[in-house]
Amino acid sequence: MSLEELYQEIILDHYKKPRHPGRLEGDHVEVRHYNPVCGDELTLGLRLDGERVADVAVHGSGCSISQASASVMSEQVIGRSVPEALEVAEGFRRLMHMQGEPDEDLLGDGIAFAGVARYPVRVKCALLGWMAFKDAVVRATDGLDGGETLHQEDGDAATAAKAQKLPEEA
Ligand code: ZN
Repeated sequence: MSLEELYQEIILDHYKKPRHPGRLEGDHVEVRHYNPVCGDELTLGLRLDGERVADVAVHGSGCSISQASASVMSEQVIGRSVPEALEVAEGFRRLMHMQGEPDEDLLGDGIAFAGVARYPVRVKCALLGWMAFKDAVVRATDGLDGGETLHQEDGDAATAAKAQKLPEEA
């Protein structure tokens, strides 16, 4: 099996068996993110325990890249401290932008998405769950309630994007 095939297997496995699906019970923040380019959407619940990521749950619909990447994200951030989890998210963002050498230990199964970086449209799919996580962390640590956010890359397009009509629930 080539490395490419192995990576494909990992992505498919996460797509078919998301690691932390569903919604969280009890106290948590919830964010909804959309990728209008591809039609991916997901709702992410996050519970922090002090500085630690206690739990994450994701449910959504969309292409295999978006859903599998969100599954990998959930697996990689749960149990870590918030700064560590954000470091993984940053590592994944750098992987998607082909910046520097990827750190496989840090990324875990996230390394399987290395090939996605060659396809800019797919990069938005792959980053969706990670952006949602970062957004949820901001809301959780600022004490804000959950909300709806369109996909945004590195923070800029938010204001313009919010004016657009959100897609209907599939
Ligand atoms: Zn997609």
